[in-house]
Amino acid sequence: MPEKIGDWYAYSGAIHIHTTESDGTKTLQEVVDIGRRAGLEYMMFSDHMTLSNRDNGLEGYYGDTPVVIGYEHNDRNDHHHYLLFESPGVYPDRMSAREFVAAGAADNALGILAHPDEIRTALAEHPAYPWTDWSMDGFVGIELWNQMSEWMERLTRYNKLLMSVSPRRSMQGPTDRILRKWDELNMSRKVVGLAGVDAHAFPIKVGPFTVEIFPYKVHFRCLRSHLLLPTKMSPDFDQAKLQIYDAIRECRLFFSNMRWGAADNFEFHAESDSHRVTCGGSLLSAEGVRLLIQLPSRATIKLVHNGKYILIVDADRLEFRDVQPGLYRVEAWKGDRGWIFSNHIRIAV
Ligand SMILES: [Zn+2]
Ligand SMILES: [Zn+2]
Repeated sequence: MPEKIGDWYAYSGAIHIHTTESDGTKTLQEVVDIGRRAGLEYMMFSDHMTLSNRDNGLEGYYGDTPVVIGYEHNDRNDHHHYLLFESPGVYPDRMSAREFVAAGAADNALGILAHPDEIRTALAEHPAYPWTDWSMDGFVGIELWNQMSEWMERLTRYNKLLMSVSPRRSMQGPTDRILRKWDELNMSRKVVGLAGVDAHAFPIKVGPFTVEIFPYKVHFRCLRSHLLLPTKMSPDFDQAKLQIYDAIRECRLFFSNMRWGAADNFEFHAESDSHRVTCGGSLLSAEGVRLLIQLPSRATIKLVHNGKYILIVDADRLEFRDVQPGLYRVEAWKGDRGWIFSNHIRIAV
């Protein structure tokens, strides 16, 4: 069941999931079963360069869980991985990143830059797949935090065992570099930030053993993206899908690492005497506005204004009254581990 937060229903789900149709290790039906048992309230699949699951009619409700199917495009150098939902088909693989981002925008598809900040160099057998061309527009969002990327990026020959024993705990958070880039892009237009699980559940060699580091069920209890809907998810699948896409496009979203506690009832609001908005919302004037932040439990709250940290405080609740025009967002940390990250609220901009 979705959590009701103020005027909003929060749905927690998983974005960026692979199946046996590309390099995942289970079929869509098997993965959906695992996801539903883990309590996912929506699921978004994206196999590499194929929409076969969608073509086979597998999109739809599974019980009360809507399952949406897009795909992950990449250029010929295997850079510029891009999640596309609602594209009419798979775009030609000869396209440059500029071209497939433009094609997606022209088709009104929902495009998300996948793991743009990969830089890992520690292990030659696991190269990075970063986003390097930032000259184009037309994408809807950025996967600020990618479970597999971060995990692989920090993997070395020496910490493999430790990181394999506690994969969720080893997640730190989006890099400063990508957060700065995201804040900067949002100064000119809305760009949603979200978390992708990039679930494959593939085996990795640790010494003499082969271990499945992130079985799907562990993935689904780690990074979650929470959608904020003005009404409950429709029982009609096409309607529900539009509600999911709207929330993403409008940045009505926050994301979390569930390892540090379920974040379903996290709150971030801006309030004037007459209006109240949440992530993705805007208020026309800063006068008399207060920001309200409520966490499920005590953590380090970091308030960000126009890309700068303006307040860092340990609390489970914060009311902030010195509101200036600009963009505000919130991070919550448990020690040096990222827990909850909101999208922006716009004040008088
Ligand atoms: Zn990828
Ligand atoms: Zn992927």
